[in-house]
Amino acid sequence: MVRHSSRSPRALNQQASTTEPSARWGKTPWRIDFHRPSSPLPRNVDFAIIGGGFTGLAAAAWLRRLAPRSSVAVFEAGSIGAGSSGHTGGIALGETAAGDLGGLGDVLAGYSAILRTLKVNCDLSLDGAYELARRPGLAEAPISWTDSGNLRVAKEIPGGSVNPGKVVSGLARAAQRLGAQIFENARVEEIAPGEGLRLLVRGAEVRARGALVATNALSLDLSGLAGRAQPKFTLAVATEPLTARQLAAVGLASRKPFYTVDLPYLWGRLTASNRLIFGSGLVHLKDWRELETLDIAIGEPAELLASLIRRVRGLHPALRSVSFSHRWGGPMLIGQDWTPVFARHPRSERVLVLGAYSGHGVALSVYLGCWAAEALLGRRDVPHWNPAPGDRKIG
Ligand SMILES: Cc1cc2nc3c(=O)[nH]c(=O)nc-3n(C[C@H](O)[C@H](O)[C@H](O)COP(=O)(O)OP(=O)(O)OC[C@H]3O[C@@H](n4cnc5c(N)ncnc54)[C@H](O)[C@@H]3O)c2cc1C
Repeated sequence: MVRHSSRSPRALNQQASTTEPSARWGKTPWRIDFHRPSSPLPRNVDFAIIGGGFTGLAAAAWLRRLAPRSSVAVFEAGSIGAGSSGHTGGIALGETAAGDLGGLGDVLAGYSAILRTLKVNCDLSLDGAYELARRPGLAEAPISWTDSGNLRVAKEIPGGSVNPGKVVSGLARAAQRLGAQIFENARVEEIAPGEGLRLLVRGAEVRARGALVATNALSLDLSGLAGRAQPKFTLAVATEPLTARQLAAVGLASRKPFYTVDLPYLWGRLTASNRLIFGSGLVHLKDWRELETLDIAIGEPAELLASLIRRVRGLHPALRSVSFSHRWGGPMLIGQDWTPVFARHPRSERVLVLGAYSGHGVALSVYLGCWAAEALLGRRDVPHWNPAPGDRKIG
């Protein structure tokens, strides 16, 4: 058995274990109502999924759906949804942050089909989204806000929104119902490659035939993405519920989510209870480990939140004295040229790495998570979007 004190030098990572960082990332206007009591770890599994966000949970459910005889375990360092997925904005977009990529297919159609198949009830609405810009907009579009110029609707695109808490909980329930085992507070500290993989989880060894690393902006040593993708932290706020009159006044009676295509960046959407969510601002990090101590109540994140609130109140007279009920932030991972990472681990063919959606991961994570499940089963190849490791590094 591999122990902390005798870690193999050839292991895919080495990292310290800490308390859940998301405790300091603020409160979101949704809940994740899925938790697993602690249970003994398995000694062997067919497939190990590392990370219990949208990507990992979708992959686990899909693996069991396609291969019910294969054992599948999800190892989540904190609680399910502790990373970006529980702290996201919830705008569902097609394509990737780099646009359409070869062989990608129809992300939004795939997303809604997967959620339907897995019986995930999450307030999905795909009625379209607005691209906003500070230039003359669509004449018939209702938004006209003051934000470093006159912000108008430049274009309407496919998209919509979900309740992220319901997606995380629903995917976890689907994975469990289909027979995947889910372990919370189960940080994977190392993966030793070889004929069979040896994972070090909570100080114990778990053997696996194949694995998916879906840890996104965290554990970049484990995923092999340190130096190849940039971890950031971004922020969001939610207002108290607005009245129908306020929504009509600000031009959001259609309930379509929105984001700017020029700078300064701003995105937002309505919740089912008429809270208006807005997001903007990036904390740049030298190292992903800074996420483990980042606190939205102090320093740069707190300043960015205060500035976001000032901006929202200045957008439109109907928002001038609006109150804010929630403030939070979460990590995101920017891939090279904004392209998601979907590749075999440089140190082991048996390990897939998927993530770095560059802020476009709500629909893509679930869609590609299922694709990763098919790739682990050898039923589908991984796409060829990423340069081979070492070809090019992010500067
Ligand atoms: C504020 C904010 C707003 C956003 N808004 C949008 C939006 O509106 N639309 C959109 O498309 N995208 C948006 N995104 C991006 C989107 O949320 C992410 O791309 C997506 O949630 C990524 O899901 P994931 O499962 O890959 O990663 P995560 O949800 O981050 O999951 C990774 C999991 O791995 C766990 N983990 C880490 N290390 C280990 C380890 N060693 N062992 C075990 N587990 C580990 C973490 O605890 C975490 O739960 C937003 C992100 C943020 C932060």
